[in-house]
Amino acid sequence: MLSAGGDQVGRPGTGRGGHQRRQTSRTQPSVREPGPLPATFISVSFESLGLKKPILKGVRDAGYEQPTEIQQHAIPKVLAGEELIGLGQTGSGKTAAFGLPMLDRLCGGEPGLRGLIIVPTRELCVQVAENLRIYAQHAGLHVCTAFGGIDLSIQESAFKRGLDVLVACPGRLIDHLERRNISLEKVEMVVLDEADRMLDMGFMPQIRRVFLRMPDERQNLLFSATLPKEVEALVEDFLPGAERVQIGRRSESAKTITHRFAAVSVSDKQDALERLLRREDGKVLVFCNKKVGCEKLGNMLKRAGLPADSIHGDKSAEARHACLGAFSRGRTRFLIATDVAGRGIDVDDVELVVNYDFPLALEDYVHRSGRTGRAGKTGRAISFVAPSEKKLYEVVKAHLSGKEVSSAPSAPGRGYGMPKGRAGKTGRKPRRGGGRRAAAGAV
Ligand code: AMP
Repeated sequence: MLSAGGDQVGRPGTGRGGHQRRQTSRTQPSVREPGPLPATFISVSFESLGLKKPILKGVRDAGYEQPTEIQQHAIPKVLAGEELIGLGQTGSGKTAAFGLPMLDRLCGGEPGLRGLIIVPTRELCVQVAENLRIYAQHAGLHVCTAFGGIDLSIQESAFKRGLDVLVACPGRLIDHLERRNISLEKVEMVVLDEADRMLDMGFMPQIRRVFLRMPDERQNLLFSATLPKEVEALVEDFLPGAERVQIGRRSESAKTITHRFAAVSVSDKQDALERLLRREDGKVLVFCNKKVGCEKLGNMLKRAGLPADSIHGDKSAEARHACLGAFSRGRTRFLIATDVAGRGIDVDDVELVVNYDFPLALEDYVHRSGRTGRAGKTGRAISFVAPSEKKLYEVVKAHLSGKEVSSAPSAPGRGYGMPKGRAGKTGRKPRRGGGRRAAAGAV
């Protein structure tokens, strides 16, 4: 299935014409169960990981004193040229875990687009690029973004001023490739961030097209906080034999988050939310499953005099950017969001995440709640559970209590899965850049 389709379209490491894998270790995956760090880990410094001076200066500018656990494991392996699957909880520092060694390897080389990071949303694109620019500022490397919703020419002009690392959403990346604004012929390293999402049905055809444009010899990296069992085989197929760094259990929530669940009927949810928000004095991120519901709820709260706003896929890139900015600065304390803000978004000091609508898959729960309790801070998640939402609540509860469960999305249009055979053979045309969630009209 995948092997046939994957090989035809340029699966990483087995690309067209010749198989030239990077140095890849086939040792056992280094899976660490959560628990107190051994002293050897606690004393690890960024200097001891082998990063070059200009990158270490960037690390200091970012204010990081010690590498997080995933950084300690991943950075030396990436620096050594290994292909890697990096799995760690939300907020555990994955961006630097791939970003620092990528910049280090590219530092001092020929100018040109040699590092590519592919992400699922505009917000994540901007955020990852902002982090990388801090890390790269003494290394003479230019970091650009490519995401939809703004004029192509703005991004094109930025590429002309210098482009060494591109952080891109797949659809806009293809637009630039088709217009020959960029070439991927010199790409040496590629990262799929939020890898389970990037490999799901909606994005996979685009990912394959992008991979076809890159040289066969390159270093491939996959990073994610969640990896549903259903995607596991796909990942293995995509990066066969890659080293794995996994911190904690599969799709584990950060230990710093406390989880609560409240039985609330659909008709009582609005009142319950308003009462809850009036008691909160910090930043709260509230998740809805659908764009329309998200917009309505945001408007209702604003009319009720609360400092609220909403963010979802029907808003323009500028509006979404402004919205997140106001939330980051604390001018809007209550942000009502669809899953566009579910993955990767790192807003300081989100004290509470509310699932107004219960998420439709376990991984969505992990990502949403992971917007709080980041970088070692504590956080709270409260989920409203209507009678119709009990099934997924049971799955989430079992997962949080340590049981191995399947993500079990049951709604139509949901669920991970590869197109059977080549892209397009499913008979269902995935929406561009959309995938299962956009197909269901959610984001
Ligand atoms: P990430 O999981 O990459 O989104 O990172 C989560 C948060 O942790 C971000 O605010 C990062 O800036 C921060 N962070 C990443 N690495 C470190 C580190 N080694 N020390 C302190 N904070 C970090």
